[in-house]
Amino acid sequence: MGRRFCVRCGSEEGPDNPIIDSLCPKCFVNERSIIKLPNTIKITICPVCGSVYYKGSWIKLGDDLSEVLEFLINNYYLTSGRGVIYNGFTNVSVKVTSIEEGKAYLSIEGTYEGVRINHGYVVNIRIDKRLCPKCTKVRGRHFEAIVQIRSEVPIRREVVERVSLVLSRMKGLEENIVEVKEYRDGVDIKLLSQSVARQLANILKREFAAKITQTWKDSGYVSGRKRSKLTISVRVPGLLEGDIVEVDNVLAVVTSVKQGRVVLRRLDDGGQLRLDQSSLWERNVKLLTPKDYAVLNAIVLGYEGGKAVVQAEESGNVYYIAAPKLFKPGTGVKILIYKGRTYLMI
Ligand SMILES: [Zn+2]
Ligand SMILES: [Zn+2]
Repeated sequence: MGRRFCVRCGSEEGPDNPIIDSLCPKCFVNERSIIKLPNTIKITICPVCGSVYYKGSWIKLGDDLSEVLEFLINNYYLTSGRGVIYNGFTNVSVKVTSIEEGKAYLSIEGTYEGVRINHGYVVNIRIDKRLCPKCTKVRGRHFEAIVQIRSEVPIRREVVERVSLVLSRMKGLEENIVEVKEYRDGVDIKLLSQSVARQLANILKREFAAKITQTWKDSGYVSGRKRSKLTISVRVPGLLEGDIVEVDNVLAVVTSVKQGRVVLRRLDDGGQLRLDQSSLWERNVKLLTPKDYAVLNAIVLGYEGGKAVVQAEESGNVYYIAAPKLFKPGTGVKILIYKGRTYLMI
């Protein structure tokens, strides 16, 4: 390998001086950063007991704000995709040096090709005070509505994360939350206000094409007036890009899920299917799991009678498959076999 030099200062690559995308460590920390965090980090703290809201629940992290922030950055931001670690760095850790006037001064350390590199970093912090569910209970605040978010298919982590991301942007929600409980098949959110619950459900309907059902339950009389609790059941389709589904007897791949619309591409003819909230729930869309079908690596040999002639790499078996798209002979493709039918994954 030829010797490499820093494009800024000209220093030569060496065991203690790795070149990081054409910069030496010194110039790297001047221009770039080992991590990238959102501009503002929000910390939600219960003003009564000091618990911190973390990944859907409340935990005690001690009274020292620096320690709390340090924990959140290292254990949440750097692992959840909310923060980014520069390519090639390992053992990245963040220390909070000080917190002043809504700004946190951090010291970032990471290893690049065996060399320890560190630099400073500043991030805005915002403290939100909200009663934790325990303290809420003690204070006797009751909830008036419960939103039960469930998925049509076994709910996946990524679906829960997408839902929480959308909800985290909703104004007035956090102050209203009495309790958030995650279950294996979904999430229950207890809220102080029924109108906030409805608003929340509508956002999920709009964003995820969720199906909404409302029910009321009498909860007795409060100062002579009859009170009912509202339960809103929110069913999200729970589909993710890349999923294979069966819709009206045809296999399709999910190409996008956003703004209340699920877009599918049929595997047989490549046609696009856009399903909005109502059509999605009218048609029977069934998510297939890798247990339902087999995927084989294969090579396109040519075309015959309008069909692609494809040879499976492992077995050598040759398949004639309707192909909505022309592939050059020699192209690697994937064959999907479901119920004895073959499709090209395109
Ligand atoms: Zn340099
Ligand atoms: Zn509390």
